[in-house]
Amino acid sequence: MRLWIKDPIAILADKAERGIVVENGLISELVPAGREPMLPVDRTFDASKHVVIPGLINTHHHFYQTLTRAHPDAINKELFPWLKALYPIWAKAVTPETFRLATRLALTELMMSGCTAASDHHYLFPGGLEEAMDIQAEEAERVGLRMTITRGSMNLSQKDGGLPPDSVVQDEDTILADCERVLSRYHDSTKGSMLQVALAPCSPFSVTRNLMKETAVLAEKHDCRLHTHLGETYDEDAFCIETFGCRPVDYLEECGWLNKRTWLAHGIHFNDDEVRRLGHACVGVCHCPTSNMVLASGQCRTKELEAAGSPVGLGVDGSASNDNSNLMEGVRHALMINRLTYDAASITHLDAFRWATEGSAKCLGRDDIGAIRLGMMADLAFYSLDELRFSGAGDPLAALVLCGAHTADRVMIGGKWTIEDSKPTTIDIGRLRAEHGDAARKFLEAL
Ligand SMILES: [Zn+2]
Repeated sequence: MRLWIKDPIAILADKAERGIVVENGLISELVPAGREPMLPVDRTFDASKHVVIPGLINTHHHFYQTLTRAHPDAINKELFPWLKALYPIWAKAVTPETFRLATRLALTELMMSGCTAASDHHYLFPGGLEEAMDIQAEEAERVGLRMTITRGSMNLSQKDGGLPPDSVVQDEDTILADCERVLSRYHDSTKGSMLQVALAPCSPFSVTRNLMKETAVLAEKHDCRLHTHLGETYDEDAFCIETFGCRPVDYLEECGWLNKRTWLAHGIHFNDDEVRRLGHACVGVCHCPTSNMVLASGQCRTKELEAAGSPVGLGVDGSASNDNSNLMEGVRHALMINRLTYDAASITHLDAFRWATEGSAKCLGRDDIGAIRLGMMADLAFYSLDELRFSGAGDPLAALVLCGAHTADRVMIGGKWTIEDSKPTTIDIGRLRAEHGDAARKFLEAL
């Protein structure tokens, strides 16, 4: 079936003023100004009330943290004390049931904001949660979002000088065996894949050097992506110097991670030489503007990283340091914090969109999503400008960012409508809100 998405108010694509044609889940034609589709179409969708952009791609999150948003024990803290407050709460209350609801909620919330593909960094494996990756694979299919699940890990706990409590870490053999299992079961690297797997040791302060090295070897063997937190805080710099005798990027290189397989979360505290080395190696960086502001972690050097050769993507980060999963809001925050870092003229709404679409796709190692171009997957977000916040707006694409678009009116993933009239076609959000809210209450009582 050929569907003509016809005459949008504006579209973030070249030579597609009259819209695009979608066929078999792909973008099969761009329709320039003054033209009609070259071949007959079966159906037409009137997009004259919509601004259309490529579906946003989220490259860093911790879905389970939707259960501890604005937690009174953790608010108003920087990263290390924030983590120390939350680890014991998560250890006691994250179960397969609560984790499933958290995953469903984060995926749904992302999608409602205009996100069509997401990666979740899941590294917390208390006893009983061994099937976390299987739960995420099931929920991604249920919600209909394209996903990179990351088999995360922690094996350096307090007894060995790490930050997390002993009850949430696993031993190296268990972790590596499960990485193999998850990769062989779920990793699909074909074009249009709905599910991919990456390997993601949590951070320098929660994982041993040996596990970092062995994980890189495994990623090479299976040709999958590598992900971790790096360069988020000065505390992390101090930990690395004290524990490993070097700075985080040196440590990354020593562990065999300084290559194009890797994308990092945050990437804030890099010096000029480190930016150059990361760019030269094409290491991707997921910029997490909202979380960086909430935890007062610092400002990512997005422009220098891109100029050096690093793809820069966007992420909402975990919902306990955001505290939502709205990626369109992340686009707006990226514009604002980068204007403070640089200046108003050199950061535009198109930079922020590029990070959230093409940059994010590159971080995930995908060339089939992230842009409205011929042959790309038909992953699209449609925003209506009928809300009060847009009244009087001039440039429609700039208005999405500057006036603060929040909810997509429609979302299409692989040619299927997953949001219609701002509601998911796959999930009952009233029921999900009630079930997730009930589950989250336990986290307030966990201590
Ligand atoms: Zn994170």
